Amino acid sequence: MKTWLGAWPVVRQFTDGDPFGRGEAVRSRQTDALVPRTASADRVVRSICPYCAVGCGQQVFVEDEQVVQIEGDPDSPISRGRLCPKGAASKQLVTSPSRVTTVRYRRPHGTEWEDLDLDTAMDMVADRVLETRRKTWQDEVDGKRVNRTMGIASLGGATLDNEENYLMKKLYTAMGAVQVENQARI
Ligand code: SF4
Repeated sequence: MKTWLGAWPVVRQFTDGDPFGRGEAVRSRQTDALVPRTASADRVVRSICPYCAVGCGQQVFVEDEQVVQIEGDPDSPISRGRLCPKGAASKQLVTSPSRVTTVRYRRPHGTEWEDLDLDTAMDMVADRVLETRRKTWQDEVDGKRVNRTMGIASLGGATLDNEENYLMKKLYTAMGAVQVENQARI
């Protein structure tokens, strides 16, 4: 049994053969009681960080079908086990109580958000696209054929990957929109 003085880390550092304080001297009952957040996982799922287009590899630790921790995947040739702070915190994208899981809609001049079911929201988007094209379509500008609408624009986010951006560009071009941008470039 150590005296209170002998249990003091700096004393242990010099008396227990750990002069640089990088081993036993800096351990305590609290540190010995710590367990990794991955310890309780019953399986690990490989994934890709959805936060930006770098596409770092992730290991998603799952317990009872719930995500308990997300860490870098050492086998990823992109990131070799590393995640930036956003990727390291991406568990919260799944588990945060403030995560939005329904379609939220605020009517023109409304002051409150309301929930919409997905089918209703998709119909509203389609109606607005058709109406906007009908009202703003331009066959020609200054005698030149343009076949476009300036009433629709797209601003994508950095979480979109190459394939999603490719499909979005195809979709918007097919609709006649020419203003297609991405937050990552802005
Ligand atoms: S947000 Fe960070 S961890 Fe995620 S893909 Fe981008 S660089 Fe990698």
